[in-house]
Amino acid sequence: VGIWFIYSSVKKEVNLAQIKSEFISNVSHEIRTPLALISMYAETLEMGRVNSPEKAREYYQTINSESQRLNAMVDKILNFSRMEKGRYKFKTEVCNLYNICAEVLGNYQEHYNGADISFNADSLLPEILADKVSVSEALLNLIDNAVKYSRDNKKIEITTGHEDRMCFVEVKDNGIGISKKDQKHIFDRFYRVTRQNLANEVKGTGLGLSIVCETMKAHKGRVTVQSKPGAGSSFRLYFPVIRKSN
Ligand code: ADP
Repeated sequence: VGIWFIYSSVKKEVNLAQIKSEFISNVSHEIRTPLALISMYAETLEMGRVNSPEKAREYYQTINSESQRLNAMVDKILNFSRMEKGRYKFKTEVCNLYNICAEVLGNYQEHYNGADISFNADSLLPEILADKVSVSEALLNLIDNAVKYSRDNKKIEITTGHEDRMCFVEVKDNGIGISKKDQKHIFDRFYRVTRQNLANEVKGTGLGLSIVCETMKAHKGRVTVQSKPGAGSSFRLYFPVIRKSN
């Protein structure tokens, strides 16, 4: 037993070291692209090498949107760390899951130009107790993944509904899918499926689904996945319905 204990704790440490180094490398990759764009465009503007106001505006817009991307990533890492330590302040209120989804899609649809997103929603949902900010963030993580892990002809269907005193929102894609083996690990922090089999390398930190998990735990709900390699995936977030006191 003693030897096994030493072996398994050494193995755990090696795994942790590997996970840590992969995470640092993934984050560095994620930071590098927006930083390179920001500094290239800022330098070109500073040198006065942009000769039309339209071009200059385009460059400023890129600098702005890339800075927002960096900000979003830093927020993601900080939020995950707060949630993991139980320090994230979930501010729950009575709300309707349909309204949260409609708001998220209204605000962010322009970010997903390459994808055909449909919203088949049941607006007559029972009420739930939810922290709108973190639930929106969780939903965005799922939509983000549906876009990232799909090839051409990206079709994403978002559905809301309710069953057995639970309300749910489903995000379904026609992307690359996830093997049964990987489905067991995708909610682990930092875990990324290595062989994405996509033409371009897909960037990520491996934190998105862990954040979704922490958020659902805080809401006493759950997240489920159904997927088949090559056929697409569908993720569902379930929230308990508020019991009406008679
Ligand atoms: P990230 O996307 O930053 O790698 P996530 O925690 O969001 O991290 O996802 C973990 C892994 O799960 C991803 O690296 C990807 O391999 C897999 N995955 C998540 N969502 C999907 C999806 N919709 N289709 C296929 N694979 C997915």
